[in-house]
Amino acid sequence: MDRGDRPGCRPAVPSADCRVIRMKILYVVRDMSFIEPLGVMFLSAIGKQQGHESALLILNEEDAMTRIKRERPDMICMSVMSVDADVFERLCRRIKDRFPDLFLCVGGPHVTFECDAVRRWAVDAVVQGEGDLAFRDLLRAVDAGRSVEDIPNVHTRARRNPMRRLIEPLDQLPHPDRELVYFPGGHLRDLNVKSFMTSRGCAYRCTYCFNSKYNEMYSKNGRPVRRFSVDYMIEEIARVRTDYGCDFVRLGDDVFAYRVDDWLLEFAEKYRRRIGLPFYCLIRPNLLKPDLVRVLKEAGCHSISMSIEAGSRRLRREVLLRDMTDEVIFDAVRHVHEAGIHIYANAMLGLPHTTIEDDIETVAFTARCKVAYPSFTVFTPFKGTTLGEKCFRDGLIDGDYPEHTTDRSILNCFTEREKDAQMNLVHLGIWACKFPFLQNAIFRRLIYMKPNPVFFFLWYLMKNYVSARYIWPIRAGIGKKLRLAVRALRFELAGRLNLRSLLGLDPPKKRVRPPRVIADQRPDHLRPSPLFQEEMLPA
Ligand code: SF4
Repeated sequence: MDRGDRPGCRPAVPSADCRVIRMKILYVVRDMSFIEPLGVMFLSAIGKQQGHESALLILNEEDAMTRIKRERPDMICMSVMSVDADVFERLCRRIKDRFPDLFLCVGGPHVTFECDAVRRWAVDAVVQGEGDLAFRDLLRAVDAGRSVEDIPNVHTRARRNPMRRLIEPLDQLPHPDRELVYFPGGHLRDLNVKSFMTSRGCAYRCTYCFNSKYNEMYSKNGRPVRRFSVDYMIEEIARVRTDYGCDFVRLGDDVFAYRVDDWLLEFAEKYRRRIGLPFYCLIRPNLLKPDLVRVLKEAGCHSISMSIEAGSRRLRREVLLRDMTDEVIFDAVRHVHEAGIHIYANAMLGLPHTTIEDDIETVAFTARCKVAYPSFTVFTPFKGTTLGEKCFRDGLIDGDYPEHTTDRSILNCFTEREKDAQMNLVHLGIWACKFPFLQNAIFRRLIYMKPNPVFFFLWYLMKNYVSARYIWPIRAGIGKKLRLAVRALRFELAGRLNLRSLLGLDPPKKRVRPPRVIADQRPDHLRPSPLFQEEMLPA
């Protein structure tokens, strides 16, 4: 049966006598910022390899039910982050209510650690962990009318299956499907900055990050850190530049390079010779030694993202398992600045049981680094991560997983007034870093005011200015820049910010300062294992 004569959506577990030659798969993302959703684009490429059609639904831009009715997909796929979990859970229930026969498949970090979503969210399959090959097998099974019950990494309501090995070599994957997001008229197609991933995985085990749990989950199933070959990457970047235009490359790997090794030297040489575009990448401060910075600079590195995360070494070491001295961070900043590379530095405020003084220390520490783009968010306890699970265990989160944003804490160890101060610091911290003479006013007075749209717009203006000027230089005419600015604003307002708090609508609560419980010794829940695991790197 082809799509043309198919009466409706195909059954969740198709029988052999309703074999579909070609399926239409609708991929759902919550919103579309300026960074391509590469995970979904890999899945779409795998689907297309097998002859299936792809379509993209951006939840914040159109009504899901109307689009599904119009598109008549055979399957809907979603990759879910914890911050969006509540939105996707509601969506899955609505879809199943309206289209009970539609095959619903979810993957991504949140459901990897919440496989039970297959029942609670009423979906047909959850893909756990690295999902590309599991998704390929799932498509083959659905397409052939076979059961999907025994596919490794795929969990159904009836059955949980074991994990398969991590994909190696990565080159067996097709290049991500750019057509999915570079559709005509779409803002990403014309953007001069395009995103790529040269690797997967991370060898570190920061407590707030999925990677530490991924590494535990895959401890007997392959090396977590794997790289695409240099030729695979150069071919992809060159093709994207030819097909869509690109004059700045964003390398979105968790950690782009650990040291100067053969892969990096080959990449630097071929990238400089055959691509020759400025690029951005992410690297931990402790790795940014002079020899590595020199190779990056010679290859064309324009900007680097490095995470500071906390101003206090005690918090970095004991709570986050990022044991870097202040000197290591300052040295990294110095090496990068001496090479003429701009820095985007992130830090988290509102770590469990900390005080606003700790947050001020974090902003002041970041200010001392004098980076081009200092960025602050409030800690989000992701399910499945060591620190996130500790927050759940300790009862710091009310309810299951409340809707939340990156500028207001959901931890109940903070009073509403403390959350207001954290939120103001998220918005004003960038100003405290760029103009240190404002620190007194910001730290002593402004952050204790009610959060308000003025602070938000100050943050919005400054962050967009420094990111577009120094980190990912946007080249466009004034009209297009304005359109992008409006889109960026819509993106922030469409779920990333807590509008109720911003408009002062949250009910005032009694201020009760929680006791400080962070001990000087490493907490029990953090396993005394090495923070960095050499054996996880590629050979
Ligand atoms: S270094 Fe970055 S990607 Fe790696 S575990 Fe830490 S936070 Fe995660």
